[in-house]
Amino acid sequence: DTITVQELANRMAEKGADLVKALFKMGMPVTVNQTIDQDTAELLVTEFGHEIKRVSEADIDIRHDMDVDDPAKLQPRAPVVTIMGHVDHGKTSLLDALRGANVQAGEAGGITQHIGAYQVKTPDGSIVTFLDTPGHEAFTEMRARGANVTDVAILVVAADDGLKPQSIESINHAKAAGVPIIVAINKIDKEGANPQRVRERLLEHEIIVEAMGGEVQDVEVSALKKTNLDKLLDAIALQAEIMELKANPDRNAEGTVVEAKLDKGRGPVATILVRRGTLRVGDIFVCGAESGRVRALVNDQGQQVKEAGPSMPVEVLGLGGVPMAGDTLVVVDNEARAREVAAYRQEQALKKRTAQAPVSLEGMFSALADKANVIEYPVVIKGDVQGSVEAIVNALNKLSTDEIRVRVLHSGAGAITESDVTLAAATNAPIIGFNVRPNAKAREIANREKVRFMYYDVIYHLTEEVAKEMAGELGPER
Ligand code: GDP
Repeated sequence: DTITVQELANRMAEKGADLVKALFKMGMPVTVNQTIDQDTAELLVTEFGHEIKRVSEADIDIRHDMDVDDPAKLQPRAPVVTIMGHVDHGKTSLLDALRGANVQAGEAGGITQHIGAYQVKTPDGSIVTFLDTPGHEAFTEMRARGANVTDVAILVVAADDGLKPQSIESINHAKAAGVPIIVAINKIDKEGANPQRVRERLLEHEIIVEAMGGEVQDVEVSALKKTNLDKLLDAIALQAEIMELKANPDRNAEGTVVEAKLDKGRGPVATILVRRGTLRVGDIFVCGAESGRVRALVNDQGQQVKEAGPSMPVEVLGLGGVPMAGDTLVVVDNEARAREVAAYRQEQALKKRTAQAPVSLEGMFSALADKANVIEYPVVIKGDVQGSVEAIVNALNKLSTDEIRVRVLHSGAGAITESDVTLAAATNAPIIGFNVRPNAKAREIANREKVRFMYYDVIYHLTEEVAKEMAGELGPER
């Protein structure tokens, strides 16, 4: 019997990083995604002061990260795309234009429904799923809730305005999530549009587009005049092909809530993005802490459908209550099981809320999945002026060793914002403020998400303290 470190952490309501650290101290350098055996798991459970409680096989079976699909059953699936970029650069216009471009007049009598996500056909006939809530805030909030649904990020940059602070934030949020970027240089119809300038500025953020000898695709578009939308869809299809996105359609469905509401006429309604399997009318499911039975499925055209496969967004009717965006829906075999799992999840959620998560020094490091033995110390850095921010980034990079290294998720001048906090929360990173403080909204989210701030006004103090923490991460025996 084995279990992944993350799974064990979830069950104990502890942070995965804390378990990795404890294992590291026990002489086992593993990442959160690796599995450990039962004896090791039991040792850890005791170490963390929890009681050992064997769970039923049925319980393991619902924990989706534990059961891996047979590679022979995997089928290609549509990419899931999020549109990001600076305010007013045309994210909403582009989302509308892309969807409109595809709805042929009179076809199937469908009416556009905003359900939180929609699908369009690319010129080569493949399908793309777009999340309807643009911006990196929604993207990172979902990620903070453990839902990594986005496969590809479209960075919209207005050609007449160029790279702006939220463009750069978007780049950093996508990078932190390891999501590939396609650049849509928008508003090329406008006087003063300078796409080349955008490509050049992107270089400063390590986004090297193909025209500049790199590998990031860029497409000049006009959401207003509907220019080159096909080219953008082609670029997405190509990116998806490279990624070889696949899922097993032939199993009990699993999906992620992208939107949920209480509808006056229809009761609780959630838009589910199916991740794998096929969701059908009549299926019994658990969704977050709610359970239910699928009464009806409604697609993005407002039409009732009988089933929804991987990457397809559908509204699900028949929920017992309103779940939260980012919650997981899992189909189970019977109602007793659904109630059991829902009760278990409710209990877990309660535990999480009541457990006063210690804001400890040990809480914030993560091991890199692909480089098993290098521990990362992630940080978000904000300062009063760009010059000091750069100096801090350089100084911190110098602290990196072969065993542990600083990973700057985002840095910039200005107050600490909500965006900084959600990014830090999603990655378990502290936020370093150099002569700056969080705004009220950021502070509120930080309290809720238990994000830690470190304030300084002398760079030397900052590096000294970070160095100490990094040494602590490696354990006392080093
Ligand atoms: P968002 O804040 O990024 O969602 O941007 P919007 O989609 O709301 O667009 C902001 C403004 O830019 C609106 O007035 C749009 O009409 C305008 N806009 C969007 N795309 C284009 C474009 O391709 N060309 C021109 N000229 N204007 C555009």
